Amino acid sequence: MRAMVLERTAPVETSPLLLKEVALQGVEDDEVLIKVAACGVCHTDLHIVEGELPPHKLPLVPGHQIVGKVVERGKKVNNLEVGQRVGVPWINQVCGVCRFCRQGMENLCENALFTGYDLDGGYAEFAIFREEAAYPIPEGYEDVEFAPLLCGGVIGYRAYRQSKVKEGEILGLFGFGSSAHLVAQMALFEGVRVFVFTRSPEHQKLARELGASFVGRAEDVPPEKLDAAIIFAPAGHLVKVALEYLCPGGRVITAGIYSTPIPELPYDLVYKERCIQSVANSTRKDVQELIELSRRLHFKTQIEVFPLEEANRALLLLKESKIRASAVLSI
Ligand SMILES: [Zn+2]
Ligand SMILES: [Zn+2]
Repeated sequence: MRAMVLERTAPVETSPLLLKEVALQGVEDDEVLIKVAACGVCHTDLHIVEGELPPHKLPLVPGHQIVGKVVERGKKVNNLEVGQRVGVPWINQVCGVCRFCRQGMENLCENALFTGYDLDGGYAEFAIFREEAAYPIPEGYEDVEFAPLLCGGVIGYRAYRQSKVKEGEILGLFGFGSSAHLVAQMALFEGVRVFVFTRSPEHQKLARELGASFVGRAEDVPPEKLDAAIIFAPAGHLVKVALEYLCPGGRVITAGIYSTPIPELPYDLVYKERCIQSVANSTRKDVQELIELSRRLHFKTQIEVFPLEEANRALLLLKESKIRASAVLSI
């Protein structure tokens, strides 16, 4: 099969992913073989390819927002059928026995394995995973449309739930890329008012089109205080800005796997029970709930589609903030 393979981490400007012919392994009893139709391109892939996240496996096929069809299943696979359309997200396997797994916090599992990081991912024509890594996904979406929901959507969903924002309240979104534009749709669907802070005129336009009630840059003071804020941009100073705009008792959620340092904070900004929390990975429940939500709310995913062999170019455009919302490889 053809795959885009990372042999050595390097700046994406040097096109570190190489198009290769890779031998396909057979499936184990508990695994499925998936013919990949689409795979989202994520900032985390960029951090992996460039080595900001230390490599767990090389050579590696990146990609963790996979949509495809099951074409073969092992003898012990019970819940997936050949021909079924499935999605595979970032979290792939958890141990089930560590203190976090035992408390339903498997997103913090100490022994977790991640798609396209510990295991070869979806920048390829085929992928093999254990059955529990693959989730049936609803009809009504094209393959390329659904792919961004599997990372931006899932992590965004977790961040949104952790913000604890309720109907009628105001949620501030800092940065407005792949994940944020999906969270805006979740929030608006549930009657939450959305304020968007982003520098990009393109992203500002998209935020207005989706129904944000306030759109500005981070330094533009909003007309009302925020009940909660989610920070998607990897810029630590935004934590301070969000706290300045936040109601007492409000929560600031940081959704990134990576950020620049958070500056020193005057105590006043966190006093009155304001809270800062990061979101890390997701649980199976988050993935299932987001897929369930995608049946009731038809997400409009803004995508730019690239062929498999242009994965380097897609990552470069992502790095240069030249993608309007989500980049997806069509395979
Ligand atoms: Zn565990
Ligand atoms: Zn991702």
